[in-house]
Amino acid sequence: MEKGKMIYEGKAKRVYETDEKDIYIVDYKDDATAFNGEKKGTISGKGVINNRVTNHFMQILEENGIPTHLIKELSDRETAVKKVDIIMLEVIIRNIAAGSFSKRYGVKEGTKLIAPSLEYSYKNDDLGDPLINDYHIISLGIATREELDTIADYAFKVNKVLTDYLKDLNIILVDFKLEFGKTSDGKIVLADEISPDTCRFWDATTMEKLDKDRFRRDLGGEVEAYNEILKRVFSK
Ligand code: UDP
Repeated sequence: MEKGKMIYEGKAKRVYETDEKDIYIVDYKDDATAFNGEKKGTISGKGVINNRVTNHFMQILEENGIPTHLIKELSDRETAVKKVDIIMLEVIIRNIAAGSFSKRYGVKEGTKLIAPSLEYSYKNDDLGDPLINDYHIISLGIATREELDTIADYAFKVNKVLTDYLKDLNIILVDFKLEFGKTSDGKIVLADEISPDTCRFWDATTMEKLDKDRFRRDLGGEVEAYNEILKRVFSK
C-alpha cells in the first residue's frame, strides 16, 4: 500500500489517501491542543503512544463485537484505517463527574454517577463544539434516529469493555469521547482515537490523573503519565 496525498490535518493527526480507494492512513503527531486550540504545546512521544494505545483498544473492542475502522498498524505513528465519513458528533460517556459536566451541573469532580451518562457535542470548531440533543441531531440531518440508537448502543458497550479492562490495570475510566464514521456501504463503525488525549484515566489508588488534564491544567508530568498508560495497557 502506498501513502498518497494528505487530505486532512487535524490538531493531533494527519490523514492520507492511499492507492486503495477505501483505505486511509492516519499519522499521529506529538502536538497537543486544548480549549478549542487556544492552548498549544507538544507532548514528546504522544503520537506513538496514542497510535499504539488506540489500536490496542480497538482490537479488544472488535473482539467484543464493536466494529471499528482499524485495519492494521503500519508503524509507530501510522495506522491503516477504513475510509469513513465522520459523523460530526463527539459522543461522550461519563462514569464519574469531571470537567465540563462538573462545571455545568455543579457536581464535585470525582463524584460517582448513579448510572453512566451519554451526551453529544456537535463537532464544529467555529461554534466551539456545542452540546446538542437527539432531536437537534435528527432535525439537522447529522444522523438518523436509527444511527443514533446504534451509536449509543456501541458507546455504552465500549464503556463496559474498557472499564473492565482498565480495572485490572488499576485505572478508573472516568469519561471519554468517541467518534463514529460511516463506511462506503453505510455501516457505522468506531473511528478516530481512544487515548489519554480523549479519555480521563485516574489511578485507582492515588486518584492521580494519567491523561491530557495534566496538559490542560498545567499539572506537569504529562510525558510520564502517557508513558504510564502505555506501560499498563500493554502489561496484559
Ligand atoms: N474530550 C475530547 N475532545 C473534546 C472534548 C472532550 O476528547 O473536544 C474528552 C475529554 O478528554 C474527556 C471527555 O471527553 O475525557 C469529557 O470532556 P469534558 O466534556 O469534561 O470537557 P473538558 O473538561 O475536557 O473541556
